[in-house]
Amino acid sequence: MSTNSPGPHLSNKERVKIPRQHMPEQDADRRRANFEEVNQGLTVLGATTEALRCLQCTSPKCMAGCPVGVKVKDFVDLIVQGDYLGAAAKIREDNILPAITGRVCPQETQCEGCCILGNKFEPLGIGYLERFVADYERSTGQVGLPEKAPPTGKKVAIVGSGPAGLSAAGDLTRMGHTVTVFEALHEIGGVLIYGIPEFRLPKEIVRQEVDVMRAMGVDFQTNVVIGKTVTIDELMTEEGYDAVLVATGAGLPKFMGIAGEHLNGVYSANEFLTRVNLMRANQFPDYDEPVFDCRDKQIAVIGGGNTAMDAVRTACRLGARTSHLIYRRTEAEMPARAEEAKHAKQEGIEFLCLTNPVAFLGNKEGFIETVRCIRMEQGEPDASGRRAPIPIPNSEFDLAVHMAVIALGTEANPLVQSTTPDLKTTRKGYIAADPETLRTSKRGVFAGGDIVTGGATVILAMGAGRKAAASIDEYLRSGQWESTAN
Ligand SMILES: Cc1cc2nc3c(=O)[nH]c(=O)nc-3n(C[C@H](O)[C@H](O)[C@H](O)COP(=O)(O)OP(=O)(O)OC[C@H]3O[C@@H](n4cnc5c(N)ncnc54)[C@H](O)[C@@H]3O)c2cc1C
Repeated sequence: MSTNSPGPHLSNKERVKIPRQHMPEQDADRRRANFEEVNQGLTVLGATTEALRCLQCTSPKCMAGCPVGVKVKDFVDLIVQGDYLGAAAKIREDNILPAITGRVCPQETQCEGCCILGNKFEPLGIGYLERFVADYERSTGQVGLPEKAPPTGKKVAIVGSGPAGLSAAGDLTRMGHTVTVFEALHEIGGVLIYGIPEFRLPKEIVRQEVDVMRAMGVDFQTNVVIGKTVTIDELMTEEGYDAVLVATGAGLPKFMGIAGEHLNGVYSANEFLTRVNLMRANQFPDYDEPVFDCRDKQIAVIGGGNTAMDAVRTACRLGARTSHLIYRRTEAEMPARAEEAKHAKQEGIEFLCLTNPVAFLGNKEGFIETVRCIRMEQGEPDASGRRAPIPIPNSEFDLAVHMAVIALGTEANPLVQSTTPDLKTTRKGYIAADPETLRTSKRGVFAGGDIVTGGATVILAMGAGRKAAASIDEYLRSGQWESTAN
């Protein structure tokens, strides 16, 4: 594999002089009107040059910063050697979804946040490199299937096909267990498919990763709502599953509890994004648009996280004339990744920070026309350590809109918990699980991902899936059951 990059025999002094490689992006004016991916990926030269920046530390910190323990130093070294398929295989030892995590992980607070280069220079672009090798592997059609242990004769059911369920399914299958994943929706992938938009994570990539798992032998059953179609007890007593992992995520949207939330044109971000991602609203007019027609309309999204950013950028791409993001704290405090906020602004999204809605007002036909907002100022630090936003008296103003999307986070859907006797929950309705073993209060039932932690990240959910798989394997082999979740 030939590259035009400098040779690998560089001193550290030479390595730190190499600038961090820039991720090529689709031009903002063009991309604001399409759903194609924004980030275009590094070239072979770019990836090899970036890989040469790695100091190959004796005690690397980056691996500890990755919730699934990807062997960063090793896979980066394989890139330097031009062995991109070897690099992909090295990542797959710990991460079954590299093309996905290379795109959506908040590397700046994880592996890259721990990179020693980052103490004085820009950290190594680990996410860019992970994405590069995963895409290279896919482009060759040579995705290597991991080795499988001989069949154990044990059956495991996984409820939910998000990153937690998928990574557990991969590990358990490799361990020789027979795995079935039950998914309520008609597509596999959880938030990766129904939440994160095409322009950040093309669905084809998720489908290809799922196909790899199918080829490994994972059985996927869609349109099965556990707790309605069949209960967990029935899976264990009538269908012969030896263990169950609940990985149902935290998909129940939170609302604001203010006047007018019932109006037509007020959506939760989950509903809005699901309708676009799973029901092809982004292909209007080829498909009937199952969401409000955003073309030439005024749109507001409330929230400051990744979900809010995804919703407002989606509305923009559906043709909105103005797209506002309303957030009650300052821009610096937004939980969304800095890259998403930067991209949103480049695309013309207007940020209304230190602003909070107090009511939605509608016309006599019941459609929203106005978001009544109040300006906020920063007060004393609150429980999160951030300065609490406080309304400024008499500062209300009206923003004319045709549609508003509420993106204020999510909580646990109670269905599985309410239909499974003996399954203990926390005060907030999440499933109580032993933090080390992910065992619940019910023998043979494990839980992991957002349904235990509340809304978190793809890689943390994957880490939980791996932990649950190891714990399930241990239980199936030993038959011993102890859990602190009782
Ligand atoms: C819009 C959006 C953008 C995000 N962007 C990022 C990002 O850029 N980077 C990042 O790291 N994280 C991001 N996150 C967070 C991340 O996606 C989640 O933390 C992660 O997906 C949680 O994984 P999970 O497997 O626990 O649950 P989920 O991904 O929520 O999957 C749970 C699955 O279980 C299914 N299910 C639920 N109940 C049942 C039932 N009773 N029977 C059968 N199936 C059921 C659901 O349909 C769903 O498919 C984002 C979240 C959202 C909503």
